[in-house]
Amino acid sequence: MKIAVLPGDGIGTEIVAQALAVLQALELPFEFEHALVGGAAYAAHGHPLPEATLKLAQQADAVLFGAVGDWKYDQLERHLRPEQAILGLRKHLGLFANFRPAICYEQLVDASSLKPELIAGLDILIIRELTGDIYFGQPRGRRIASDGLFPGSEEAFDTMRYSRPEIERIAHVAFKAARQRGKKVTSVDKANVLETFQFWKDVVTEVHAQYPDVALEHMYVDNAAMQLVKRPKAFDVVVTGNMFGDILSDEAAMLTGSIGMLPSASLNERGQGLYEPSHGSAPDIAGQGIANPLATILSAAMLLRYSLRQDAAAARIEAAVQSVLAQGLRTPDIYREGCTRVGTAQMGAAVVAALRAQAG
Ligand code: NAD
Repeated sequence: MKIAVLPGDGIGTEIVAQALAVLQALELPFEFEHALVGGAAYAAHGHPLPEATLKLAQQADAVLFGAVGDWKYDQLERHLRPEQAILGLRKHLGLFANFRPAICYEQLVDASSLKPELIAGLDILIIRELTGDIYFGQPRGRRIASDGLFPGSEEAFDTMRYSRPEIERIAHVAFKAARQRGKKVTSVDKANVLETFQFWKDVVTEVHAQYPDVALEHMYVDNAAMQLVKRPKAFDVVVTGNMFGDILSDEAAMLTGSIGMLPSASLNERGQGLYEPSHGSAPDIAGQGIANPLATILSAAMLLRYSLRQDAAAARIEAAVQSVLAQGLRTPDIYREGCTRVGTAQMGAAVVAALRAQAG
C-alpha cells in the first residue's frame, strides 16, 4: 500500500504531518514516499509539479496532498504558479471523479449558519465530474465579430460538451457509492434548457437500469441549489457535471460551517486517488501551529476507504475524530466557549490517542 505524500505549501506541511501520524498509528503495512509540490517545488526545482513528483504520484496507490499556494508566487506566469500542480496531477492521473462529503458532526452543529434541526445528522456526498463539461470543451476562445453585427466588439465563448463514456463512468461511480450509503442518487442537470444535460439525464437513466437497488431522482440545478439549504438531509449522493458540481459542492460543504473539517477525494478509473482537504494553504495562519488538521485526517480516512479498500481502518479514524470533538477539543477555527482550545499538533495527537484507546 504505497502512499505518495505531497504536503505542499503553507499549512500543508503542518496538517499532513498530523494525518501521517494518524495513518502510522494504524500499524498497517503502508509505504510512504514524500515529494515536493507547489511553491515548495518551484523554489527547489523551478516547477510546481516536477517530473519526479508526478512519477511518484503515478506509481503510488494513493496521494495524500496538503495544499499549495502562497501570495509570494502570485506574480509568476500562470503555468509556474503553485496551483498548477493540482491541475497537472488531475490531468496526468485522469482523476475524473471528485468526492466531497458534507457531514455535520453533532458537536459542531452551532458552526452552521442553518438552523440546527436542518443539519443535525447531515451526511451527504457530492460527486462532481472533474475532467469534462464547459471547463474543457473545445472550441473556446475570443473573436471579433466578423458579420458586422457588433462592429469592433469582441465575443467570447466556451463549449459545453459531454461524451457518453464520460457520463457513464461517473454515473457508475455514483450508483456504486450510493450502494454503500443511503441507496439514493440525485442527478443534477439543466435538461430543460441545455442539450448537453438532456443527454446527461438520458445516459444516467440508462446506467441506472443496472442498479435497481438504488433510487434515482433527477433535479434541475437551480432547484438543487435551493433544496440544499431548504432540506439538505433529503439528499444522499448527488452526482453532477463539472461546473454545477463546482458550485454545489462548495454550497454543500459550507452547510457544515467549518472549512477546517472538510475532506475530499479525486479518483481515476483504476481507483487511484488524490486525497486533500477542501481548503487551501491558508498563508495567513501558516507557521503558527493553529491550523485544523481534521480535514486532512478525514481525507486520509477517505484514502483508506476508496483507494486501499481498508473500510474498517477508515471507520476507526472517523470514530477517533468524533471522539476528540466529543472531548471538547477545538482548534481556533471551530472554537466556542466551554471547549478546550488546542493547536494543530495537539489535535493530531488527540486523534492518535483516541485511535489507541479504541484498540485497547
Ligand atoms: P484558504 O482555504 O487557504 O483560506 C481561507 C480561510 O480559511 C483563511 O482565513 C484560512 O486561515 C482559513 N483556513 C483554511 N484552512 C484552515 C484550517 N485547516 N484551519 C483553520 N483555518 C483554515 O483559501 P485562500 O486564502 O483563498 O487561499 C490561500 C492560498 O491557497 C492561495 O494561494 C490559493 O490559491 C490556495 N488554494 C489552494 C488550494 C489547494 O491546494 N487545493 C485550494 C484553495 C486555495
